[in-house]
Amino acid sequence: MQTIDQFSFAGKKAFVRVDFNVPVDEHFNITDDTRIRAALPTLKKILADGGSVILGSHMGRPKKNPDPKYSLKVIVDHVSKLLGVTVHFAADCQNADAEVAALKPGEALLLENLRFYAEEEGKARGLADDASDEEKAAAKKAVKESQKTFTAKLASYADCYVNDAFGTAHRAHASTALIAKLFTEKDKMFGFLMEKEVKAIEKIMSETVRPFTAIMGGSKVSSKIEIIENLLSKVDNLIITGGMTYTFTKALGGKIGKSLCEDDKLDLALELLEKAKKNGVRIVLAEDAHAADAFSNDANAIFVDVNEIPDHMMGLDVGPKTEQLFADVIKQSKTILWNGPTGVFEFENFAHGSKVVGEAIVEATKNGAFSLVGGGDSVACVNKFGLADGVSYVSTGGGALLEAIEGRVLPGIEAIRGY
Ligand code: AMP
Repeated sequence: MQTIDQFSFAGKKAFVRVDFNVPVDEHFNITDDTRIRAALPTLKKILADGGSVILGSHMGRPKKNPDPKYSLKVIVDHVSKLLGVTVHFAADCQNADAEVAALKPGEALLLENLRFYAEEEGKARGLADDASDEEKAAAKKAVKESQKTFTAKLASYADCYVNDAFGTAHRAHASTALIAKLFTEKDKMFGFLMEKEVKAIEKIMSETVRPFTAIMGGSKVSSKIEIIENLLSKVDNLIITGGMTYTFTKALGGKIGKSLCEDDKLDLALELLEKAKKNGVRIVLAEDAHAADAFSNDANAIFVDVNEIPDHMMGLDVGPKTEQLFADVIKQSKTILWNGPTGVFEFENFAHGSKVVGEAIVEATKNGAFSLVGGGDSVACVNKFGLADGVSYVSTGGGALLEAIEGRVLPGIEAIRGY
């Protein structure tokens, strides 16, 4: 497989799929440029080699072409500033021949939002609500057909292809997967960010040093079922926490008051516990809760046995006994995966459990464990508590990371390395 550090970009034009889907405020100012910064090592290497960069990205979920609310033009100046070179802009990703031809070594060109075209995602657009199944099928077939031309056009701009957009690696889109097929093995590769993400996942999922502990938090069991199931054949310890806790507690006969609960998942919770037992996996559930009389930071709150939450209260975080229990398990681990907070960490008064988990992970990491944090809110947690530098790797991919942990092959990765 080709690797970016071995490849010389001198005199070459590289199509780089980046994830510049950054949040912007109502005045189109970028509110968090982490995703742009994450791609800089790749882009700087190409430019320093004497290559030129053609940047392809999506932003938001446009429904038409053009859709000014989602124009990537608003980020051009900032990308220029971070890269230290002028970044040109092509207002239509399918009509950029002139801009590409004018591109000199050491220069960059940003293409307008790839998703202005339905072909990027390969989904039919503009169908009437009452469209028949035949109409839907015909529209889908048409967009799949034109997707080939769309992809070929993007590929025609460049001599080589670099995928550095881990955040969209789980999508089989034109610019993330299909385009890679139009380049030879030696002319396609991961960018540095993608390489780091892939390595981090491998360290967790296949090069595991035991004991392996996964901490799965967040709100709902239903959104984490497949991950939990896959992890049950991999981990030694599975800490199930966050809002999911109470579905398990109730299934086991506890009183959970008004806590979050998915009543249609009670049987599933018991099945997962049974499967864990069979696999020799230790499931670690909360023993006590920080329960409140309202879903609010200022609610009246008490620490209570997780099985004895009063009828008018709800668990919004774990209690001190549980914090100790979780921290002990984490500190004895050599591989750690954290996805999802232990409670409603957005409320200052219910963030303590998540902070303790983060700190325990940092301590385990100091003692030689490999720790991967990812999948949305746990990243927000480590950033909020200033712990990001103390863990081994913070993933930039939400959905992509979760699908990788579910054990799925990610199309953006497969398109480059074949699996
Ligand atoms: P997820 O997106 O599924 O990872 O869930 C993250 C969200 O779960 C965060 O916004 C938390 O506030 C929320 N959450 C965590 N614990 C609880 C809880 N005990 N009750 C309600 N929401 C929770």
